[in-house]
This record gives sequence, C-alpha cells and structure tokens, in this order.
Amino acid sequence: MTIRRRASSRLWCPKCGREVGVVDLIQAELLTGIDQATLHAGAEAKRWHSFTGPDGTLLVCLESVLKSM
Ligand SMILES: [Zn+2]
Repeated sequence: MTIRRRASSRLWCPKCGREVGVVDLIQAELLTGIDQATLHAGAEAKRWHSFTGPDGTLLVCLESVLKSM
C-alpha cells in the first residue's frame, strides 16, 4: 500500500465552480462508507464529479459525493 504524502488534495472542480476537496476511491470509501465498486460505478455514471489525478488515479469531488448521500 502506497503511503501518500497528503491525506487529501484540492482541485478546481468546474462543475462546482470552485476549489473542492478531492479524494481517491480508497479515501472516499473511508470517508463515506460507500464501497469502492459503487464509487467507481458512480463516477463512471457521472453521478458525482470525477477527475484523473496527476498520477492517473481516479479522484472524486468530495462535495458531489457528500451531496448525493
Ligand atoms: Zn464538484
């Protein structure tokens, strides 16, 4: 398991129109309790805002995930 330097990062979300917290699917699962498969499906279905991070990791906009709960 890769140890990340930062627990979360911030990116400009064009859909929110502001800078938001973004997390990868592992962190999103920990924060929301939604399992990674559901998160991934939700991102693919554009249920929440998703990004591809600098290292190619799928990141999700935390605001959009929390709003959907
Ligand atoms: Zn967003």
